[in-house]
Amino acid sequence: MAKQKKIPKDQFQNMKLWLDYHKENNKLPYNEIICCKCKAYPAKLKGAGMRHALKAAGGNIEVMLKSTMCKDCKILTLPKKEKKPPVKRIKTQEEIYEEIEKIRREMPKIDLNKPRITIDLNKDKKACAEFTKNMCFRPDIYLDNDRTCDYCSINECCSCDLKRFLTKKISKK
Ligand SMILES: [Zn+2]
Repeated sequence: MAKQKKIPKDQFQNMKLWLDYHKENNKLPYNEIICCKCKAYPAKLKGAGMRHALKAAGGNIEVMLKSTMCKDCKILTLPKKEKKPPVKRIKTQEEIYEEIEKIRREMPKIDLNKPRITIDLNKDKKACAEFTKNMCFRPDIYLDNDRTCDYCSINECCSCDLKRFLTKKISKK
């Protein structure tokens, strides 16, 4: 006990004494040492703490005594897990392709096998009247014929306001 009392609590003040003590007793004189960085706060070396510190020092007691930090210094020294800043960068060709594929996958599928409804405006009078309400269906014929509908195949049921005939005969309705 007398010998132990001579050992300073700060291992840096007398490293040799600490190491000799450890060699003789296979344990440290105190269960805490002084932080190697701030040289002010203690680093607790009890049980698991001691095992970790020793492991970090590669099993070398001297290295451990010289390189163990207190909790605060450890936190300050530890490499911070960097949050990646949202860097705007140019997308690679592959990423663009991936995005296009994603959009494609999420798009509602168009059923190509679904039968297409064909409306024959020549036969379906009701549909013809409906579809031509606000527009001329055959402006090509209309314009080619001096803005008349005489030659248009749907002229009978067309309800477009532009409808007019050269020959009153056709618009007999
Ligand atoms: Zn410290």
